[in-house]
Amino acid sequence: MDNLDRFGRKISYLRISVTDRCNFRCVYCMPPRGVPWRPHGEILRYEEIVRVVRAAATLGIRKVRLTGGEPLVRRGLADLVRELSEIPGIEEVVLTTNGALLSENAEALAAAGLSRVNVSLDTLRPERFREITRLGRLEDVWEGILAARKAGLVPIKLNAVVLRGVNEGEVAEIAALAREGFKVRFIEWLPLGGVGEADPGWFVPWEEVRARVEGALGPLRPLGVQGPARVFSLPGGGEVGFIAARSAPFCPSCNRMRITADGKLRPCLLSPLEIDLKGPLRAGATQDELVRLLAEGLRTKPWAHGAEAPNDRGMSEIGG
Ligand code: SAM
Ligand code: SF4
Repeated sequence: MDNLDRFGRKISYLRISVTDRCNFRCVYCMPPRGVPWRPHGEILRYEEIVRVVRAAATLGIRKVRLTGGEPLVRRGLADLVRELSEIPGIEEVVLTTNGALLSENAEALAAAGLSRVNVSLDTLRPERFREITRLGRLEDVWEGILAARKAGLVPIKLNAVVLRGVNEGEVAEIAALAREGFKVRFIEWLPLGGVGEADPGWFVPWEEVRARVEGALGPLRPLGVQGPARVFSLPGGGEVGFIAARSAPFCPSCNRMRITADGKLRPCLLSPLEIDLKGPLRAGATQDELVRLLAEGLRTKPWAHGAEAPNDRGMSEIGG
């Protein structure tokens, strides 16, 4: 079976939210308290995730990213990594994490077959880090990043969501980390649902972030588009990218689908269209039936260009 969607895009990448739970409460992602976590029974079990990925691999999925919520708050994640990385056809299993629990997990994850990690890092100032994440400590995340580097989970990507009035003044300092071997990605804030106190004034268009980086560090040289990111080389070395999900969605180069924490296939982040997998899985669906459901998602994957961000779910459930 081939993995081309109806717009000719080759879909080879699956992002899986392994939990909606998190040990942080980032201001743009979750309300400060009273998050209505889904009961454990509603979240896909590891063996169910493995079945879905086996089916996806037969459709041409080659790369799997584990995300959340915070994937490292789910017990036994390294076991899942091991099982997924052994599935024929799956070439890479990678992880997006807030980094807080990475120092104690990096080695086991690498040994289990994890290829690389992306760590979210919006600020280099401890107090601001606490304000943005509400519960996190910058120190723990740095330790995690260093442990991941030591364990060989490289190159490490550092993802920063830029918020006006919060961390916009820091983008050059963050970009300069690219000279130390990290790949830096700046992400436009998306007004998604489930947050509570989102501020419409937070939005900073990527061109403005680029201008700030260039003003401080010199002209950026375009290297092209890599997945959702416009990527540039930094004078003095390193690579910086911009993910303009809002001002210039990356639909033409989109190569991904998502699985939500509660087991729905979501072909497009920006469209509320979803196909239930958990129901069929628990009702005894065969592998062929799973493949058919995934193929239906591929066939119906929308072209969301110009779509307003949907507010049916927050990023932690969809898997940002
Ligand atoms: N907890 C992990 C982490 O923070 O890396 C993985 C899940 S988190 C939802 C994945 C990414 O989504 C993070 O880089 C986070 O900054 C980003 N994110 C969350 N809400 C967002 C929003 N409203 N707009 C843009 N990015 C968002
Ligand atoms: Fe948790 Fe990641 Fe959302 Fe922050 S962005 S609250 S770390 S899921």
